[in-house]
Amino acid sequence: MRRTVDPPQGWSKEVPGSERTKAKPEGDHTDDLPRPHQRGQDQPRCSTFRFKKVSGPVLANHQTWSQRTPLPAHGPSRGLLGCISMSPRPPRARVKADPLDLAGIDDMLSAEEKAVRAVVRQVCASCVDPYVAQWFESGDLPGIHELAKELGRLGLLGMHLEGYGCAGMSAVDYGLACLELEASDSGIRSLVSVQGSLAMFAIWEHGTAEQKQQWLPAMAAGESIGCFGLTEPDHGSDPAKMRTRARRDGDGDSADWILNGSKMWITNGSVAEVAIIWAQTDDGIRGFVVPTGTPGFCATLIKHKMSLRASVTSELVLDGVRLPTMPSSQRSAASSARCPAWTRPATASCGA
Ligand SMILES: Cc1cc2nc3c(=O)[nH]c(=O)nc-3n(C[C@H](O)[C@H](O)[C@H](O)COP(=O)(O)OP(=O)(O)OC[C@H]3O[C@@H](n4cnc5c(N)ncnc54)[C@H](O)[C@@H]3O)c2cc1C
Repeated sequence: MRRTVDPPQGWSKEVPGSERTKAKPEGDHTDDLPRPHQRGQDQPRCSTFRFKKVSGPVLANHQTWSQRTPLPAHGPSRGLLGCISMSPRPPRARVKADPLDLAGIDDMLSAEEKAVRAVVRQVCASCVDPYVAQWFESGDLPGIHELAKELGRLGLLGMHLEGYGCAGMSAVDYGLACLELEASDSGIRSLVSVQGSLAMFAIWEHGTAEQKQQWLPAMAAGESIGCFGLTEPDHGSDPAKMRTRARRDGDGDSADWILNGSKMWITNGSVAEVAIIWAQTDDGIRGFVVPTGTPGFCATLIKHKMSLRASVTSELVLDGVRLPTMPSSQRSAASSARCPAWTRPATASCGA
């Protein structure tokens, strides 16, 4: 949940949203958003806004640390015992720090990046904050499909990817969006980052042209939810030891794949339309795009979690899941790329 604190002396309390921002020069409204408790009933929903790529440098206002925070001059360096020498130490310059932005990240962001952050904050204020305490209490995310569509309408799903209806924003924009989602609830950030960074990215990077066309536009719109099955009951931090196995059934390149095994702690698992399943093969670990309606695929909701309660987390069982093989002409050239690291980097090759 977001924190609210009284600003320290010398900081404006009048500027809307000032609990997270310094008093700003007149005319700078880049971050003037009401906090959840300040929002009126007539607060507009944000679904009319949609992110799209902006031109220009990503970090227009970037400054180095030394430019932004000059170190106080202490005169010539002194030895270990300098503190008891007779030379007086000059008084330290007092720098007022924002207690909610101690690293001074705000100063490094461009107006466009602050605007992205402001819009996501507003969406959280209207779509998440009023309900998330109840979701946490019930340990569930009811209405997850509607929420996913709302987030998709805004362009938050696969926000950093190009094409296929994705917003094509920068990594900084995506990071700021996730920071705002996380401030509302980790479970909601998890919904968005598992969808975009894990499930969509795996298809976008390693999938065939057909898989990309089939899944990415629907996932970007939030009409299809994806999950990413890497972790297993006995092999969380060490995915290279996974037991889920995929074997060929048939002759040559046209042979089907058959998947057997189980996955644990899978975000979005029991609400997903598509699962990216990682499995051992004779050629090492590979990823498979599995429509969750495929016979033999089963997802069970994990209950009684102590954290990430406003999130769907599931156990997956794959019992003879049969996947037809794409013609090799449709396979992505990237199919032998290295495995993305979910926990510790796997050393085997993979392809979706
Ligand atoms: C809510 C939730 C959602 C999740 N969503 C997904 C998902 O969508 N997809 C997915 O694939 N996984 C998901 N995970 C799984 C998550 O990635 C694993 O929990 C994580 O990889 C750790 O695995 P583990 O739980 O088996 O812990 P373990 O591997 O048993 O590790 C337990 C502890 O031991 C430490 N440890 C383990 N090995 C070593 C070592 N060699 N050296 C030093 N320390 C070590 C770990 O750091 C950890 O602190 C999710 C987990 C949770 C709780």
